[in-house]
Amino acid sequence: MRIEEVPAPSAPGPLQAIVSPLWSGICGTDIKEYTGHGTSDYAARHPLTGYEGRPLILGHEFSARVEEIGAEIENVKVGDEVAVYPLLHCGKCEACLRGEYQNCRIKAWNGLSSPWGGFGEKVLVEHYQLTPLNGIPASTGALIEPAAVALNAAQKAGVSAGDTVFIAGAGAIGVLSLLAARALGAAQVHVFELNPKRAALVGKFGGTVIPADAASDIPGYLRNITGGLGVDVAIDAAGKPAANATALESVKPGGTLAVPAVHLEAVTFDIRRITRADLTMVGSVGYTRHAWDATVAMVRSGAYPIDGVATAKIPLTEIVARGFEVLSQPSDELKVLVQVNE
Ligand SMILES: [Zn+2]
Ligand SMILES: [Zn+2]
Repeated sequence: MRIEEVPAPSAPGPLQAIVSPLWSGICGTDIKEYTGHGTSDYAARHPLTGYEGRPLILGHEFSARVEEIGAEIENVKVGDEVAVYPLLHCGKCEACLRGEYQNCRIKAWNGLSSPWGGFGEKVLVEHYQLTPLNGIPASTGALIEPAAVALNAAQKAGVSAGDTVFIAGAGAIGVLSLLAARALGAAQVHVFELNPKRAALVGKFGGTVIPADAASDIPGYLRNITGGLGVDVAIDAAGKPAANATALESVKPGGTLAVPAVHLEAVTFDIRRITRADLTMVGSVGYTRHAWDATVAMVRSGAYPIDGVATAKIPLTEIVARGFEVLSQPSDELKVLVQVNE
């Protein structure tokens, strides 16, 4: 990873804009790219964005200032601060026509499969990517993207008023899932996290940390405190086989397990548990446009208070030493935000 000069984007088309990133979050996906477990290396030109493989400008979680707009842009003006919706899509395929841009046949992401990323000084964006912040601080704006991932998963899991929820893992997506579940009305959110510093943050975000001495039988612990039932919803935000098995065992009959975590390897489980306990298991990748817009609205209203998830804010010059290097090791940080432009 290095910082180098690249040509600036050319003038925006009528429905495009050039923005300068303000704050940009480092994601687990970025760390996978950094440590060589990434998936962004395209052999051929990406059909939507023209991205042709490395070098790659990382960064898909970012806020930005609008610098230049095309003639037909109406939703923002130069100088406005925006959150960038980083999910590029064709707008024509069957998934796009249903508004499920995360399932677009040729979707692409800024910072992973496009020439432009949030850790660069300038980004060329399409009109639909410009989400005005309208008073949301720019540093919070960089958290909208992972917050939308978590809200999408919690919504897809059907978290509703009064529910008891179990979350495996208190990394950024785990804590955001906790906040999302609370925002959707969950009465109790129990979180298990091995790292004691992260576990200590759970209470601050409105969750209950599962004590370390319950670690050997978390499903038993959760059944104990739910009258023998188990939880309404479990969310696997850890991405480890053991955590997934624990989450599956913790759900009550008729309940739901959501898996927003991206596992590094295949997980084996007993399918009979799904049938016999009448369970629903849902995957969740990215977010629907609705979940993105709902995230912005709920952050603005205060219902989804995500600010505290940024546990470190660093300048661009320290992105490797205090960002990627730290996060490549077991770390106490939830989300590290990088200030790209002032
Ligand atoms: Zn991310
Ligand atoms: Zn499409």
